[in-house]
This record gives sequence, structure tokens and C-alpha cells, in this order.
Amino acid sequence: MSTLQLKQITKSFGETDVIRGVDLEVNDREFVVFVGPSGCGKSTLMRMIAGLESATSGDIVIDGQRMNDVGPADRGLAMVFQSYALYPHMTVEDNMGFSMRLARVPKAQRRQKVLEAARILQLEPLLDRKPKALSGGQRQRVAIGRAIVRNPSIFLFDEPLSNLDAALRVQMRIELARLHEALDATMIYVTHDQIEAMTMADKIVVLHDGEVEQVGSPMELYHHPRNRFVAGFIGSPK
Ligand code: ADP
Ligand code: MG
Repeated sequence: MSTLQLKQITKSFGETDVIRGVDLEVNDREFVVFVGPSGCGKSTLMRMIAGLESATSGDIVIDGQRMNDVGPADRGLAMVFQSYALYPHMTVEDNMGFSMRLARVPKAQRRQKVLEAARILQLEPLLDRKPKALSGGQRQRVAIGRAIVRNPSIFLFDEPLSNLDAALRVQMRIELARLHEALDATMIYVTHDQIEAMTMADKIVVLHDGEVEQVGSPMELYHHPRNRFVAGFIGSPK
């Protein structure tokens, strides 16, 4: 089970209110996509869910437990960013196993987890390579692999594909959908690409100026956008 609730979350940086009263329910195994223009607060919201940033007010609840004061490592989630820095001197296997090494997981067990993740991500033939010998898509898969080995119940993806070219993005979308099936995990995915949102989401959350403008399935938002802002972002073309 892995559910997430945001209850009246706000975030201010100094005088600026960046997130303004966000309520949200994410169900177990749901694929939820946050969309909205640059600067609307998507990353800030993700970082608060991950515990990398504290909320100014409101509650973050995972599986019924209030998480506001729980550190990022103990929230049972893993985050994949747009700019994923792999360790250049380490092989794919060592990159993927690094967090387990820090946690002093024994070597045999580390290898088993990495192999499992590599199988899901089709990275098995590349485990001995260094990052510089990988394509962009392969590197991104390694970054996702690092998240998988931690067994998170919730995955947070913040524009993970935006550095990839269009063809590769299409391929990675399919792979992420397969990953969602294979892992039975809850996923929250940020994008500013409406095609990504329409094709991947069970539920889309449209953010605008730090507020939730509308929540619904892709078809609900497409056919019944609440206002012009949502229509402009998701709605049927005029
Ligand atoms: P998005 O990911 O949707 O592009 P962000 O969450 O990165 O938006 O940023 C939302 C707003 O918060 C922006 O106006 C940004 O400048 C501001 N912001 C983000 N992080 C900080 C910070 N650490 N200090 C001050 N302002 C910030
Ligand atoms: Mg962002």
C-alpha cells in the first residue's frame, strides 16, 4: 500500500508564496502527472513530498502517517530528476548499487537487487560499462535503476525525459509505463509536455501559480476543462 495525501500545503520563500493551499489525494499504484507552466511550483511541491524542502504549513501524509518531520531517506520514496548525475568513474552496476553500499548492504545482496533492476530496465548487457559509454536514454535508465533498487513505494519523477530527444522520449514513455506495471508502484511524474501527461497519467493535476487548477483523468480534462487555462494546457485544440 502506498498512498499520499497533501493537506493544505503551502510554501513561502521569504515574502513569496510559491505553493498556496494544495490539497491532493494520490491512490495506491496510481500514475499521477503534475503539469503546469514553468515556475508554477511543480518542483517545489515534489521536493516537499520528497522531504528535500519543508512545507511552510499543511500536512504531507504517506500511508496514513504524517511525514512532515520524517527525513527524505525514511519516507519510502525515491526521486529521479531531470539532471541525473551518474558517477563517471563507476560502472553501471556500481552506480546502481551505490546507495545500498552506503547503507552497508552486503555485496551479494546488492548484486542481486541490481540484476533485478537491470532486467526490468534492460540494462543487463551494460552493467560493466562506464556512463560515458552509454547513450542518453541508457543513462536515464541507470538513474531510474538507482531509484528502483531502493524499493520505494512511491516514485517521484521530475521532468526525467526533458533532456532527451523526441524519439527517445517516446521510447522512454513506453518503458516507464511498463515499469509502472512491473513494479506495482505509485508514481508521481512532473512534465510540461501535454502529450506525456495525456498518454501516461491515470490522473492529471494541473498547477497554476502554486494552486491546483483542476484534477481529473486525461479524458475528463480534455473534454471538460474547468477554465481557459486548463483548456489551453490540456483541452481539445480549437
Ligand atoms: P516549476 O518546477 O513548476 O518550474 P519551481 O517549483 O521550480 O517551479 O518554482 C516555483 C517558484 O518558486 C518560482 O517562482 C521559483 O523562482 C521559486 N523558487 C523555487 N525555489 C526557490 C528558492 N529556493 N528560493 C526562492 N524562490 C524559489
Ligand atoms: Mg521544475
